[in-house]
Amino acid sequence: MIEIEGLTKRYGEKVAVKNLTFTVRPGLVTGFLGPNGAGKSTTMRMILGLDRPTGGDVRIDGAPYDRLRDPLKHIGALLDAKAVHGGRSARNHLLCLAQSNGIPASRVHEVLDTVGLTAVARKKAKNFSLGMGQRLGIAGALLGDPRILMFDEPVNGLDPEGIHWIRTLMQNLAAEGRTVFVSSHLMSEMAVTAEHLVVIGQGRLLADTSMADFIRRNSRSYVRMRTPQHEHLLDLLHTEGITPVAADDGALEVDDARPEHLGELAARHGIVLHELSPKQASLEEAFMRLTAESVEYHAHARPAQPPPRPPEPARQWGADWKKGS
Ligand code: ADP
Ligand code: MG
Repeated sequence: MIEIEGLTKRYGEKVAVKNLTFTVRPGLVTGFLGPNGAGKSTTMRMILGLDRPTGGDVRIDGAPYDRLRDPLKHIGALLDAKAVHGGRSARNHLLCLAQSNGIPASRVHEVLDTVGLTAVARKKAKNFSLGMGQRLGIAGALLGDPRILMFDEPVNGLDPEGIHWIRTLMQNLAAEGRTVFVSSHLMSEMAVTAEHLVVIGQGRLLADTSMADFIRRNSRSYVRMRTPQHEHLLDLLHTEGITPVAADDGALEVDDARPEHLGELAARHGIVLHELSPKQASLEEAFMRLTAESVEYHAHARPAQPPPRPPEPARQWGADWKKGS
């Protein structure tokens, strides 16, 4: 288990991580999602004690990283796959790591086998492809047989086969009851990898929710309507107790409605429709909406009436989404 409480990191004027509080639990893959620059890597470095928090704290199985005895046996991490001494062979790299952490050398062969590098174990790491380097980094993370694993954007730059392999590995590790925490800036990647989701934007917590809940809440289906008789249609919908959302281009969007119902309603009142189309919002859109500044968010989808309330701080989304999870 990783417990993060009030975690904050400032670099001079820049606040990279702001008052983050969440817990990463064992037995499932937790996705750490946020656009580039959101503060994911900074948070992960602080979890590993590689960066000192400006405020708040991190506990790994109840203790700060620097108080763990044999930390590699508690938490293994892949932060930067290029952080391997290129002149060494894969095997020697892992042997050095094992030796300095009190891990038996026999474990090196096991992890090489797990990541499929046995055949190239004696080749120099600097000649490895990106995918092989990534596998070597993961072998290092697995070396101490830790109960907690952390991966920072592990699928970046990998081919589909490599992506599939890493995804399956993470899910298997979670199925063994381990805590698996993985970051990505891609909603689509998290949707197929993670069971739980922590979303951050500009260093702040935006959502902490199960993936199923995130999908349920964000698979918004609606009907788009465009008409030259805008006011007339708006009045009619309000009379029917329907509150549409105004789209950027002047169209009206009606949530969870059937197009035939709306079309017949308009026809009965002699309203000409230039568009009547059922739509399904994508998870990618939901993620972009969530992480965009609240001002931008309200520009994209605001209630047509009553007039929009002042933008709420983005943090409230976190609180709101957390409630339902
Ligand atoms: P992510 O991993 O989500 O892309 P990072 O944690 O790398 O985001 O960065 C978060 C913010 O902190 C960014 O604006 C980045 O420029 C800034 N940052 C990260 N590391 C440093 C550093 N060592 N010095 C100054 N600013 C930093
Ligand atoms: Mg990063």
